[in-house]
Amino acid sequence: MKKAKGRISGEKKIRGKMQLPKCDLCRQMVQLKDGVLSICFNEILEVEHIRKRWEEDHPDLILHVRDFLTYPDQADWKWQHSKCDVDSSYQIEAARLDNIEKVLHWTFHLMGKNWFQFTDWRKAILRLYPGIYGDL
Ligand SMILES: [Zn+2]
Repeated sequence: MKKAKGRISGEKKIRGKMQLPKCDLCRQMVQLKDGVLSICFNEILEVEHIRKRWEEDHPDLILHVRDFLTYPDQADWKWQHSKCDVDSSYQIEAARLDNIEKVLHWTFHLMGKNWFQFTDWRKAILRLYPGIYGDL
């Protein structure tokens, strides 16, 4: 029997090359050695507070589509130079996110934090690995 060549659909290897966007604060190039992904706890608390108020304003179990459109966004992770740090409370060094296995490790680690749900980790990772979602 002849062996099949190439990959079977669904076994496609995830494109794991990390992108290094420009710094969200100074807009200059960021290198792996001086970059960090950071989040500000004050922003997380604000999101938590706004969401709580939103939920109090929407006590009904049945919601309209227009209600979902007003649901408050999560706090954004910032991609930045470590030296550009102004108000971040939690940082992950870029080199500790330079392959997808490390990202998975951090995802599991952060899922144990009670504030993680108020942050947009998915958006942060899609900036660093833009090809990943289409490859899953
Ligand atoms: Zn910067």
